[in-house]
Amino acid sequence: MNYGGVPLKPLPHTRGDNLLVVGTAAGQVKPITGGGIYFGLICADIAANTLNRALTADNLSARALAGYERAWRRKLARELRNGYLGRKAYEMLNDRQVSRVFGLLESTGIIEELSRSKSCLSTGMRMLSPGSWDKN
Ligand SMILES: Cc1cc2nc3c(=O)[nH]c(=O)nc-3n(C[C@H](O)[C@H](O)[C@H](O)COP(=O)(O)OP(=O)(O)OC[C@H]3O[C@@H](n4cnc5c(N)ncnc54)[C@H](O)[C@@H]3O)c2cc1C
Repeated sequence: MNYGGVPLKPLPHTRGDNLLVVGTAAGQVKPITGGGIYFGLICADIAANTLNRALTADNLSARALAGYERAWRRKLARELRNGYLGRKAYEMLNDRQVSRVFGLLESTGIIEELSRSKSCLSTGMRMLSPGSWDKN
């Protein structure tokens, strides 16, 4: 049996000759939560459009498929990188430090602000916030 963890970083290349890699296999996953449905669907949409063009031109070379790589990275690379850095920072903290960080984020209104934003951090912050479980 082959198995592995959820990747925290995207693959360095997600296309090749006759090949597009999409979703968790490509590392299109929110590093903080491991959620990959939203990013996977965004990238599947881009992949379908790229494939449609490539099949119409009867050219499935890595070069012809490069638009997929460019388009999804333009859309998600920054959020993936920030999420990864956030995840790494979070992993360095012990429980007490986590509680202090979230206490600070809550008292300054940052959690509320993040909850309204569309970033992957917003869901992650809500889920990881120590007090969030008590409120539900
Ligand atoms: C318990 C759990 C809860 C989750 N909750 C959330 C959530 O709330 N929100 C969220 O966004 N994400 C969540 N996720 C993550 C989400 O399920 C994945 O990000 C998403 O399913 C990735 O979709 P995918 O199509 O890339 O890969 P997958 O859904 O993993 O699909 C890959 C498919 O390929 C098949 N496969 C593998 N190897 C081969 C092979 N050699 N030949 C043929 N087929 C093969 C597999 O059987 C599978 O059907 C959760 C995951 C788990 C496990």
